[in-house]
Amino acid sequence: MDAFANRPNDLASFWMPYTANRSFKAHPRLCVSAKGMYYTAGDGRLILDGTAGLWCVNAGHGDPRIVGAIQKQAAALDYAPNFQFGHPLAFSLANRLTELFPSALKHAFFTNSGSEAVDSALKIALAYHVANGEEERTLLVGRQRGYHGSGFGGTAVGGIERNKAQFGAAVHPVDHLRHTHLPENAFSKGAPDHGGPELADDLERLVELHGASSIAAVIVEPIAGSTGVLVPPKGYLHRLRTICDKHGILLIFDEVITAFGRLGASSAADYYGIIPDIMTLAKGMTNAAVPMGAVMTSGRIYDTVVESSPAGIELFHGYTYSGHPLACAAALATLDVYREDELFENAGMLAPIWEERLHKLADRPHVVDIRNLGLIGAVELAPREGAPGARGIEAMERAFEAGLMIRVTGDTIALSPPLIISEAEIETLFSTLETVLRTID
Ligand code: PMP
Repeated sequence: MDAFANRPNDLASFWMPYTANRSFKAHPRLCVSAKGMYYTAGDGRLILDGTAGLWCVNAGHGDPRIVGAIQKQAAALDYAPNFQFGHPLAFSLANRLTELFPSALKHAFFTNSGSEAVDSALKIALAYHVANGEEERTLLVGRQRGYHGSGFGGTAVGGIERNKAQFGAAVHPVDHLRHTHLPENAFSKGAPDHGGPELADDLERLVELHGASSIAAVIVEPIAGSTGVLVPPKGYLHRLRTICDKHGILLIFDEVITAFGRLGASSAADYYGIIPDIMTLAKGMTNAAVPMGAVMTSGRIYDTVVESSPAGIELFHGYTYSGHPLACAAALATLDVYREDELFENAGMLAPIWEERLHKLADRPHVVDIRNLGLIGAVELAPREGAPGARGIEAMERAFEAGLMIRVTGDTIALSPPLIISEAEIETLFSTLETVLRTID
């Protein structure tokens, strides 16, 4: 394995996603196995997983209960279509999800990723309005600095200009709310105090501009993760819900990161006590062991779309692998692990300890902001003059050398460990990060 890691020619063919391919292939960072909180790198070193993979391995790596369920399912039923046929696990999983999330979310549509969940959610929102006799509701509203995956719909409602620049015009009419990060809220612990309702009133302004009857849905991450952990100020999400209700606009929570225990609850909807009309899921759903996503919808949305069609197929949308048996088996086993090991509760219990230790980094070199909620944290570094993002990349590279996997977006370090982390491992994570911050210039 070590020899492989040092033979760049063997790395040439894989066009890596969201990666600086040339620099990676010159200095590869390969993981060859993983167990619990740790990866093993190509050179045999243990690497503490400070990011649960990509915010997804919430139960830690290689849990034998999940591995065993996948193996067993592969031997019993490798595949059956869910178009016009079905298999029991997909129905069981949909039922389990409706038990886990707010009871108003009564139906689950399965996808293979968060991106597919987002594009499916947007299409379902549009289909709902058509079925409801409001075809003119076609405008989708996202938020600046929102990340909703890499599909065409998700890229359009997303608020990352860099993600759009290579691909021409957005395919669907969209508008955006402002992002929720205000300078006066720097170094807030948990939800910031200032500006929540006023920021949410952006939606009222868009209603005035476009007319309520043209807006189909608003999609937000309850906490923007991939653009640097932007926790909305107090009152923001509640006010969005109120404005959506007033104008008949559907509220979509993209919970690809926030669901499955990250905030110490089943979902952000649960954590905040706000019920969206549609919720997207992925990542922690299968503990990332098999790719899977889902869209949860209210009963009203499902009933309206299904009943609008006198006979035959009601929604012309789906994927060959929607509700794949291996993914369903992995998800059901993962939900059991979350419950048996009380991992959501563990995350909730550790959150105050996490917050306190994270904020001790406030006066470390280059740190200009710290943000957190649940078991999520961000450390924003000052950009190096003339080279934005360079300090972040250096932190990521040095952390890997020091035995810690972190995620960077620009010059912001994002942290989201598996929910099995112990207090001692929280200390190791942050003391390693402190050492890393001291070594970068
Ligand atoms: N939505 C959100 C909020 C995400 O964080 C992500 C992935 N980071 C996605 C959608 C896309 O998920 P996937 O990469 O599984 O397509």
